[in-house]
Order: sequence, then C-alpha cells, then structure tokens
Amino acid sequence: MGIVSLASAKSCWRGLDYYKEDNVVKLNKINEVEYSSIVKENKNYIVYLNIKHPRKSTCDCPLAKGRSVICKHIVATYFSAFPEEARNFEEEQSKLQEEYEEYQDELYEKVIRYINKMQKNELIEELIHIFDYGPEWIYDDFIKRNYIE
Ligand SMILES: [Zn+2]
Repeated sequence: MGIVSLASAKSCWRGLDYYKEDNVVKLNKINEVEYSSIVKENKNYIVYLNIKHPRKSTCDCPLAKGRSVICKHIVATYFSAFPEEARNFEEEQSKLQEEYEEYQDELYEKVIRYINKMQKNELIEELIHIFDYGPEWIYDDFIKRNYIE
C-alpha cells in the first residue's frame, strides 16, 4: 500500500495544498526509499518518509506523533519527493468526480423517466413516503416553497 492509499482523503487534499504552497522545506533524500523534510505550518513539523514501508513514516505533529498515521505533512513530503504522484492523484480525483457526475446525470434521467410513467395515486404515495422517511428539510422545504401555512 502506498502513502496516498493509506492516508485519509482529507490528509491527501491538505497534503496536496501544502505541497503546492511550498510548505515543504528542506526536503532531503536519505536513500532511494527514505526522505526527511520540514513542513511549515504554525510551527515546523519534522517528517520522516519511508516509501517502502509507509507505516514507518513519522511526523511530530499532534495527529501523527507516536502513532502510525499518515498525516497531511507526510503526504506533502511524499508529493514533494514525487511530483508525478501529485499529478496522478489530482488526475485520478478529477476522473472520479467526472464519473460520479455522469452517474448522477444518468440516475436523474432514469428517475424522471420513471416519474413520468407513474399514476397520480402512486405519485401521492411516493411523496408521502419521502416525507415520512426522508430528511426533515425535504418536508420543511416543500412547505416553504408551496407557501403552506
Ligand atoms: Zn504531521
């Protein structure tokens, strides 16, 4: 497992920001698999990165200190050492976003087609079901939009 797949999505995005904003200073290549760096934030954090054994990577920030957590500072260090991985991450994320949007569009069209085929009593039943089991705001929003007092 790589650094990106072990880190949370939030740490990946924050790590990408830190990398792009040049918060990673003093990147040092120890050997082919080990790096060290200092990542600037409110204070400076000392990062040790091991790409062969990602869980051995360390950072002295509150989130990662003493735990095998891949924090945003470790991710930022990883992206600084391997800029092509930062590009891969961004490309993959925008591809996923596109796929998700396409899926949502298809779903929307399917639902509209289905609704158009429904009988009035079926529509009424479905609407009541949504009010009963959907989130509260659906009901509130319906009442507001239709000026129901
Ligand atoms: Zn950290």
